[in-house]
Amino acid sequence: MKYIKNGKIIMPDGEITGKVLVFSREIVDIIDEEQIGSFGFGDVYDAEGGIIAPGLIDLHIHGYMGEDSSDGIEKGLLEMSEAVTKNGVTSWLPTTMTVPFEQLEKVFDIVRKLMANGVDGAQILGVNAEGPFISPKYKGAQKEENIKNIDVDFLIRNSDVIKLTTVAPETEGALDAIKEVKAKTDIVMSIGHTSATFAQAMAGIDAGISHATHLFNAMTPLNHREPGTVGACLVSENVTCELIADTFHINPGLFKLIYGIKKDKLILITDCTRAGGLEDGEYDLGGQLLTKKGIECRLPDGTIAGSVLTLNKALYNFKNHTGLEDYQVIALSTLGPAKLLGDNTRGSLEKGKNADIVIFDREYNVKKTFVKGKEI
Ligand SMILES: [Zn+2]
Repeated sequence: MKYIKNGKIIMPDGEITGKVLVFSREIVDIIDEEQIGSFGFGDVYDAEGGIIAPGLIDLHIHGYMGEDSSDGIEKGLLEMSEAVTKNGVTSWLPTTMTVPFEQLEKVFDIVRKLMANGVDGAQILGVNAEGPFISPKYKGAQKEENIKNIDVDFLIRNSDVIKLTTVAPETEGALDAIKEVKAKTDIVMSIGHTSATFAQAMAGIDAGISHATHLFNAMTPLNHREPGTVGACLVSENVTCELIADTFHINPGLFKLIYGIKKDKLILITDCTRAGGLEDGEYDLGGQLLTKKGIECRLPDGTIAGSVLTLNKALYNFKNHTGLEDYQVIALSTLGPAKLLGDNTRGSLEKGKNADIVIFDREYNVKKTFVKGKEI
């Protein structure tokens, strides 16, 4: 049995101070300090006045530390799984780009294996297929030659591993395809990389879209006479929205407004590329040249191309610009994504859930990360 004392314990609806978190592979209890040992003796960790939070879940990571999910290299995925735990991430969706089907299938096969066998670091929960079913007009940093109309058979065939996919509802045959995928699989369909008007986006949401890929980025903007995809996502209560809170993709002056509208339907992600965690320089992004400078990644033509954000930094930025309580901010990358994936085994420190735990200092710097009770 293990114990963490002297920290603020983050729960779904508030924060507990002056207590001790007890865990083994699962969360066992929250007790008084005098009771340490009552569940059996073991390691006692001191949070030193910091934050004891559920492990973070990142739905949208392309790459990190030089590796990229789209490469389809098992060793790369294993290294990323371990590396992201430094940022407090305990489970994630390797996220593929708009690359050829054969390349995607190669990634899916590896992820299938890693899902079945488990990994040493952050657990791999499946794939986020961001493309190839997108609009060439809003391709962002995705490669146009690989873009396709929604292929229902492809999605159904791989629905054991694809948890989330981005679609552009205005493309040919999209609405029927969305309905069919929704009826036959558990894949979350996410609107993104789309030229959809407000009406087209609303039709997509009616057909079964329930999530938005990095709200504001690579979609039609909000205008008072044509509210675009952004408007449709903001007014649709059942649509969860991803946000890249690096303060570069979206002006942080909007964070409060977006939270006010979406509340617990907002999910912070990183959209991190292989340049994440590395020095400024030139890298590959799905066959294209990416230049990293500070917090900015761009293609040669200036297109913004993913981020180098870490999820703990996203939480810090969001808290800093909204003044929300820690438990409200942390829920955006823990309980929120777990709910979206229909996963009841993680996302909070409630009894019986996996002991995926992070100890942060008050500025969300990671002190320790545990996956299923094991210190990484
Ligand atoms: Zn992305």
